[in-house]
Amino acid sequence: MKYPFLSLFLLLIASAAQAQKPNFPEFSMPKQEPEFQLRFLSANELGGRRTGSMGNNLAARFIAEELRTYGYSSPAGAKDYFQPIQFQAATPPSAGTLKIGKVDYKLMEDFIFMTGEANTVKNAEVMFIGHGWVDEKSGHDDYKGKDVKGKLLISLPGPPGENNSPMVIFRAMGAKRDLAYKNGAVGLIELYRLPFPWNFFSSYFGRETIAPPSKEAKSESRKLTYGWMKEKSGVAEIKDLQAGKKIKASFSSNGFSSRNVPSQNVIGVLEGSDPELKKEYLLITAHYDHVGIGKEGGNAYSAEDSIFNGARDNAMGTVALLSAAKALSIQRPKRSVIVMAVTGEELGLLGSAYYAQNPLIPLKEVIFDLNTDGAGYNSTEHISIFGYGRTGTDAHVETALNSVGLKVFPDPAPEQGLFDRSDNVSFAAEGVPAMNVSPGLTKFDDAINKYYHQVADEASSIDMDYFLKYCQAFSYLARLIANDASKPQWKAGDKYEKAGMELYKK
Ligand SMILES: [Zn+2]
Repeated sequence: MKYPFLSLFLLLIASAAQAQKPNFPEFSMPKQEPEFQLRFLSANELGGRRTGSMGNNLAARFIAEELRTYGYSSPAGAKDYFQPIQFQAATPPSAGTLKIGKVDYKLMEDFIFMTGEANTVKNAEVMFIGHGWVDEKSGHDDYKGKDVKGKLLISLPGPPGENNSPMVIFRAMGAKRDLAYKNGAVGLIELYRLPFPWNFFSSYFGRETIAPPSKEAKSESRKLTYGWMKEKSGVAEIKDLQAGKKIKASFSSNGFSSRNVPSQNVIGVLEGSDPELKKEYLLITAHYDHVGIGKEGGNAYSAEDSIFNGARDNAMGTVALLSAAKALSIQRPKRSVIVMAVTGEELGLLGSAYYAQNPLIPLKEVIFDLNTDGAGYNSTEHISIFGYGRTGTDAHVETALNSVGLKVFPDPAPEQGLFDRSDNVSFAAEGVPAMNVSPGLTKFDDAINKYYHQVADEASSIDMDYFLKYCQAFSYLARLIANDASKPQWKAGDKYEKAGMELYKK
């Protein structure tokens, strides 16, 4: 070696640069700790952590016990760190027949039943019921003067109106079923005329859905055989019906079933160190559920590998959450902190939405939601920030990322509205300034698609050096926000600014 002293000199400079990292516990965390937590949470034995599954519950237990060890308290209203949620799974009938006039329709191919007890009906009279809608305000009443008792009703899709959006049509389903049930029909079938392929519709509504407890889930009219059918081309029956011709129908169904799917958000609270600022809370969130095993996962799997481990989505975020929880407990920030691992994200942000409607600490006392969730990463130079430039926290983001030598990548695909597709939106919608922090995603490419919601999303494929930096930067960012005397605020004109003003008004 020609310049041994120069090398030594450079080495000294390098270690001096390292030592400039702020002196906070997040920077002395050993790499093995987040790695262990990540390997555990995404292990095959946890079976893809699908909401309500044993693996999901085990993950929740693990998180709760870590929070207990760090010294977090279980807030009033929680049961030993758990906020229980009684989800309802609804499974549509898996076997059914439908014959109208002389035409046989096939389950899934031509029709689906969405609700109804096990039932066999022979030669019922068929009646066309318009939209099957009653609106007291406008006086519209499709049932007026009609005896529908014992009849199978066929209706146009949705409520009256030519250009109803699919959402309007979907939202009308329960009310239309209620009306048919109340009036004594034996069944109600809506005609499929939506502007997208039948297969999308039938595979979405023809499979098990999980939803939070709701009036709809308990509705008595779910006993009624209710479904949708595609009109067969070249078959005149529906036209005949509209023209008033008498037609008989027979149908059978093995019945809709429902079951309780208990799951839980996991919540711990840490009191802040400042006598005044501790009355305010920083909320830190990450979803710990994933999509499960085999066909639950929604993507390709094989006999050798059928478990959707969800190491990136979102064991990485869950561990970053735990890292922040631990670091903040060792050296407390000025504000109090709520650490929450939410369930049900993959089913439609259900756990965070449930908490936002049933908060254990009033949301107006929460100054910010710092969420972490990701689809994966294709850059180990970056951390992606969804909501960058919107809440006045950019300087903290830069300080935190630079402390570990990483750069900010602002929302890589604003047109996809990714900010609104993770749990931060449940809080933003209530007015709480919020942000989602993701591992370095610069664009949706093959490097992302290889793992995103795939069985290959396993801990063994994760760059643990990068992951450690990710956890450190996330923890430090939480600390910076929790210590800042001024509060984050929605930028003027932001879509959530109004909700924020509403929430925090005195
Ligand atoms: Zn996710």
